[in-house]
Amino acid sequence: MTPTNHDFDCQACGACCSYSPEWPRFSTEVDADLDRIPEKFVAADLSGMRCDGARCSALVGYVGIATACAVYALRPEVCRACVPGGDDCLMARRGLGLDGVVASASAAPTRTASERG
Ligand code: SF4
Ligand code: SF4
Repeated sequence: MTPTNHDFDCQACGACCSYSPEWPRFSTEVDADLDRIPEKFVAADLSGMRCDGARCSALVGYVGIATACAVYALRPEVCRACVPGGDDCLMARRGLGLDGVVASASAAPTRTASERG
């Protein structure tokens, strides 16, 4: 069965947030919005989110089990553009070995594409 958006639960995933240190880069954000992101989560060269290895420092929890974004309301545009079931999402999930994992009916509330994007 081909997964649909409703099969992906971002709060039980976090793959796109831990896929690559090149991922959560700043792009079209305005400075005023970037200034609201706590400094501890921002890369030293201000190019994007600070990562520990491939994982964004703002990601909380355990990838593939339970995750959250510590700066969700302030997250960069690239994070908003990554929607569950989209190409970037599928690439990240494949990279983390989560491509065959779908949310169960009893899982935590699913973050929808509109909430994510
Ligand atoms: S957008 Fe996709 S890869 Fe990112 S957290 Fe949600 S389900 Fe996982
Ligand atoms: S800022 Fe939030 S949504 Fe974006 S990569 Fe980091 S943890 Fe994920």
